[in-house]
Amino acid sequence: MSPLKSVDIARQIAEVPTGHLMDFLAESDLLALTVPLPLGGRGAPMADGVALTFDLARRSGSVGLTYAMHLAQIHTWAAHVGGSAYLADELRALIASGKLVASVVSEPGTGGNIHKATAVLAEGLQKDTSNTSYVPQAGAFLVTAMDDSGPKPVQRMVMVRADQTQATEKQRNFMMGMNAIHNAAWSFTFRYPPEAVFAEPFATIASATMTAATHLLWAAMWSGLAARALDTAQRYAKQELPPDIAAPVMTRLSELRNRHYTLNALIRDNLRPAITPFAAAAAINRLKITGSEIACEITLACLTITGLRGYAESGPYSLAEVVRDVLSGPLMVANARLQANTAGIDRYSDDRP
Ligand SMILES: Cc1cc2nc3c(=O)[nH]c(=O)nc-3n(C[C@H](O)[C@H](O)[C@H](O)COP(=O)(O)OP(=O)(O)OC[C@H]3O[C@@H](n4cnc5c(N)ncnc54)[C@H](O)[C@@H]3O)c2cc1C
Repeated sequence: MSPLKSVDIARQIAEVPTGHLMDFLAESDLLALTVPLPLGGRGAPMADGVALTFDLARRSGSVGLTYAMHLAQIHTWAAHVGGSAYLADELRALIASGKLVASVVSEPGTGGNIHKATAVLAEGLQKDTSNTSYVPQAGAFLVTAMDDSGPKPVQRMVMVRADQTQATEKQRNFMMGMNAIHNAAWSFTFRYPPEAVFAEPFATIASATMTAATHLLWAAMWSGLAARALDTAQRYAKQELPPDIAAPVMTRLSELRNRHYTLNALIRDNLRPAITPFAAAAAINRLKITGSEIACEITLACLTITGLRGYAESGPYSLAEVVRDVLSGPLMVANARLQANTAGIDRYSDDRP
């Protein structure tokens, strides 16, 4: 497989109709971008996943988020295959199928606390969720559940094939944004062999891989949404405003680009390995909290520039979709929850320039 050239991909994406972007990703072998070559992926660095997610979200928040969630899941699966031939073979089969990997974490009882689960590992694992995205497009699920078989309960992650899953849609979740994603609360029954359970505890998997991959890719998605708002506001100012008004608006847009630069600098900073695990955890939480806030700030400021034309549901300067999409950022794993978690580890990390 030829190496990825981000610029070429961005050019190709620009020509694909929004409704066909997910098909384009599957046909272009981009769904396993960062998965190592021996496991059937492209072996690209996470920086390429970030670049591609940004370009997708600049076109559509729903496509950007779907790709970000899927890539974080498949990247985590690949990183924690360990010595399991079963998990490696299933990963290659999933990649060959062109289907997505969905995340089955959030439950009604545990909210956004990923480190809690009430579901228990068992033959016929039963898990009810508050929201699981793109289930109809998924070929596999990464599910968290408690393992009560040892002296102490341990939260684990298990990979379950979609064709071994009984899924009942309890309620379709029509959200404020991200509406091109099938979001719903589900009642699942999962069947799987013992080899489908990852050897490492979920806490290890999350801190080593999943949290960082998720927050980096989500932040790239918010950056793409903010870029779309900036593009729209700039086009509006150039095409619709008289020159004497356009000039100060361009300065305001340039200030907003300072904020966008800050968001992108936070992403680039988090692509480098941190000095200690505590510093890494604090930095990735700060990327998630600050990045989602900056993206909302930029997008809402662009709305004030485009005024009524941006507030319109449709039309060449409508920001309706991008505003609705970006508002999911601070909620997807609540920023307040992450801030409380970060406050607990702040004394162990001393951030320096
Ligand atoms: C578009 C979209 C797609 C999603 N897709 C999936 C998916 O595919 N799979 C999946 O598993 N999940 C998914 N989720 C769920 C998501 O990951 C979060 O779990 C969920 O958004 C959190 O829900 P919550 O706000 O009800 O819960 P909580 O995080 O429990 O928060 C509830 C409230 O409590 C507050 N709060 C919580 N802890 C603290 C604290 N320590 N200090 C102060 N306040 C606190 C929060 O600020 C919030 O106001 C998706 C969510 C969205 C928006």
